[in-house]
Amino acid sequence: MKKAERTGASSPWTIRISLMLVCMLVIVYAGGPMICSARSLAAEETQPTVIPQSKTQHKRMAIIIDDAGNDMKGTAEILNMPVKLTLAVMPFLPTTKKDAAAAHEKGMDAIVHMPMEPKVGRPEWLGPGAITSNLTDKEVRERVEKAIDDVPYAIGMNNHMGSKITSDKRIMSIVLDVCRERGLFFVDSRTNFRSVVGELAVSKNMPPVGNDIFLDDRNSKPHIRQQMDLAAKRALEKNMCVVIGHVGQTGLNTSSVVRESVTRLQDQIEFVGIGDLVREVWHWHAAPTLPTNNK
Ligand SMILES: [Zn+2]
Repeated sequence: MKKAERTGASSPWTIRISLMLVCMLVIVYAGGPMICSARSLAAEETQPTVIPQSKTQHKRMAIIIDDAGNDMKGTAEILNMPVKLTLAVMPFLPTTKKDAAAAHEKGMDAIVHMPMEPKVGRPEWLGPGAITSNLTDKEVRERVEKAIDDVPYAIGMNNHMGSKITSDKRIMSIVLDVCRERGLFFVDSRTNFRSVVGELAVSKNMPPVGNDIFLDDRNSKPHIRQQMDLAAKRALEKNMCVVIGHVGQTGLNTSSVVRESVTRLQDQIEFVGIGDLVREVWHWHAAPTLPTNNK
């Protein structure tokens, strides 16, 4: 701050000429009229160059790691991360209970990773107990209830795949109703840009929380690093960012890049669980009911 003020005071004409040049360039590139008065120049000269302290605070990122529950590659590395993450655990699989309990013990958030039918994809990728478009209202409700019962300590839910189901109002309305009744929020993984989840959540007074960036849609460290940098930029600009990565095929690359990135970014960004974000941004308190809770 002091250095900037001193520089400005010692060479006002340099700044004035530079600003005029910038304005001229903007006019040329904009291809139209643009007011660049002496008054606005003067105002710009006196603008502080240092961001006020309050604006540098509360930059938060919630990293959700999907596909836990089947002894997937990278799970141990994710659970040993030095910051709080969120583990999305698929129901009815061999390590469902173990992974959810481990996340809880490490102080991380656990959520149900609910398998849902995609537009394109093999049925065997869905996992047991999936929500498919041919189910009746009653069957959808039963499957969501059973999934919540199967993942201990879950405070929310997100969708595994589900590009077809998340655009289906009938089904998603039931899914959200069950989540709300059980005290859970729903995170839209945003596998379909036509998803109805956000608008439905608002209409039901639930937080319209969704994924902003997929970290590992390509399994390469440079790509995952690039996605983490994008996420950091978004968190710094918009004060929050939700990202999704995976254990499994990309697990070791994802966990390795997440570890190096959180270490690098920790003094600028606070890494929080998705439950913290929902509470602090939308003032919505997860209140899971038995038998899934941790009382
Ligand atoms: Zn998944």
